[in-house]
Amino acid sequence: MSAATSANLVPIARRGLMLVISSPSGAGKSTIARTLLETDKGIGLSVSVTTRQRRPSEIAGVHYHFVSAREFERLRDSNSLLEWAEVHGNFYGTPREPVEAAMAEGRDMLFDIDWQGAQQLQEKMASDVVSIFVLPPTMTELQSRLHRRAEDSEEVIRTRLINSRAEIGHWEEYDYVIINDDLNSAFDAVQSIVKAERLKRTRRLGMGGFVQQLLEEEPDLK
Ligand code: ADP
Ligand code: 5GP
Repeated sequence: MSAATSANLVPIARRGLMLVISSPSGAGKSTIARTLLETDKGIGLSVSVTTRQRRPSEIAGVHYHFVSAREFERLRDSNSLLEWAEVHGNFYGTPREPVEAAMAEGRDMLFDIDWQGAQQLQEKMASDVVSIFVLPPTMTELQSRLHRRAEDSEEVIRTRLINSRAEIGHWEEYDYVIINDDLNSAFDAVQSIVKAERLKRTRRLGMGGFVQQLLEEEPDLK
């Protein structure tokens, strides 16, 4: 077997990825995130805490930890949140402990958070963060998707549409930008990003040891 072939088979220890996905509400980031989590069992979801009301389709502890404003303040003030932000009039935050445990064990984590959260994670853990911004193909389609999802009131949809323009304004702060026109193509793009980022030299902590071992091997040249 050639060295190149065997290198691909040897498991090399690496740092976990912090995969951040943001988009204006309705562009499809949760759908893409869900598909990724179902397809790639090596990625765990960071379950945020929020003061928002639970949607009919959501399960407490799976999609979010739904908390009161008082409980949110307690978590924030006790430094239990890695980042937090107010989005569309509600508070959202990332619990610190599960992220630190995943990173220490080299596990990958997915964050469905807004641009404010992405900025905070980027400041704190730049070398671990890989960020993706998802755009809708048109503003009209964004509006239809919010209506088709049929989980928010007309007033909530209106607020989200108004806010979407300011959110889209942050697209250049992300490593990758995807237009979610066709869901399969958008998902393919996300999978390619994850695959390439996992192979990045700077994340492959065990590569030095592998190369050293490789060079110690002296095949008989006769
Ligand atoms: P977000 O998490 O960005 O707010 P969702 O993932 O909840 O958005 O998607 C909003 C709605 O749009 C959902 O009903 C979803 O099924 C639909 N959707 C997502 N991606 C596409 C797509 N590429 N084409 C058509 N509908 C889509
Ligand atoms: P939704 O109410 O549609 O679930 O989410 C509204 C917005 O809040 C989305 O942009 C979502 O990515 C963002 N969000 C969800 N959880 C968090 C979080 O923990 N931190 C931050 N900063 N944003 C979050």
